[in-house]
Amino acid sequence: MKVIDHIAKAEDKTQFTFEILPPLKGQNIQSIYSAIDPLMEFNPPFIDVTYHREEYVYKELSNGLLEKHIIRKRPGTVGICAALQHKYNVDAIPHILCGGFTKEDTENFLIDLDFLGIDNVVALRGDAVKSEVYFKPTKDGHAYASELVGQITDLNKGIYLDEEIQNTSKTNFCIGVSGYPEKHMEAPSLDSDLHFLKKKIEAGADYVVTQMFFDNSKFFEFQAKCKDAGINAPIIPGLKPFATLKQLNALPHRFHVDLPEELIKAVIKCKDNNQVRQVGIEWCISQSKELKNAGVPFLHYYSMGKSDNIRSIAEAIF
Ligand code: FAD
Repeated sequence: MKVIDHIAKAEDKTQFTFEILPPLKGQNIQSIYSAIDPLMEFNPPFIDVTYHREEYVYKELSNGLLEKHIIRKRPGTVGICAALQHKYNVDAIPHILCGGFTKEDTENFLIDLDFLGIDNVVALRGDAVKSEVYFKPTKDGHAYASELVGQITDLNKGIYLDEEIQNTSKTNFCIGVSGYPEKHMEAPSLDSDLHFLKKKIEAGADYVVTQMFFDNSKFFEFQAKCKDAGINAPIIPGLKPFATLKQLNALPHRFHVDLPEELIKAVIKCKDNNQVRQVGIEWCISQSKELKNAGVPFLHYYSMGKSDNIRSIAEAIF
């Protein structure tokens, strides 16, 4: 079932959903099931599965020169989605990127999803590869998520890349896109970011999932600004429970989000990461309660492959 149909069916009741990462290459699907099993009693209508593009690594040769290798550490997004739909009878939502995909690759990826009965996708640009500073579009690929959304919308109308294909089958994807309450790191301003978010909706996106945030007022301001900008699609808040001392620096650096002073002080006081994890759970419970009271359609948790803290939060909220 499509995400927008889940929203309609829930009749204003906030539902529990979460995102998982494919395991590192070399592990099997059991590691995914072990993370998901403790969360299924909270009846998630869907589970998101992230997509991880290739990385470049450089190996030093005996003559001192560097040799470039292309590796993918977390392949398997589509296979995992198919496995989840089959095992748990839940909608699995693969993320799909511009980076690393030609338009032809995108079309073939979408055809695979359609054949597997997967009718939801989250369409993203993706980040720059780790060894580069700026995102570079793949040759014959898309530069921005709005263009990717446009291609998916075209396929939903039966428009394939090869114009000569006759009597085409139409896909039926519900399309999610990203939104950034504290603006995307490359955007010159929140208004400019919202301008381009609107382009994604105009290109056919059905709903928005936000980047993590730790201060609900940022989300509520974002919701209001979206409304003012004429963005009326449902907005799903993404929440990540704070979990380690290292994240005090890592999260603002990696995701360009602010941490409230009260949270920072509580984390600094902790003696070890077990205590930090507990602080993170309590903070996220309090965020979740307020958002639920505000009537958001889903609370969407970033699990990062670990579910014990998400389970504690779900027990308190759902
Ligand atoms: P876009 O919407 O294309 O925006 C990128 C930047 O360009 C923004 O600053 C925007 O304002 C600007 N912009 C947009 N259109 C234009 C235009 N026409 N002209 C000029 N500027 C423009 N990454 C992964 O690799 N895998 C994942 O599975 C994944 N899942 C994610 C899920 C969520 C909910 C979120 C919030 C992020 C996720 N990401 C993932 C990270 C995401 O790929 C990065 O944040 C990336 O840098 C931007 O992707 P986007 O789709 O938001 O880009």
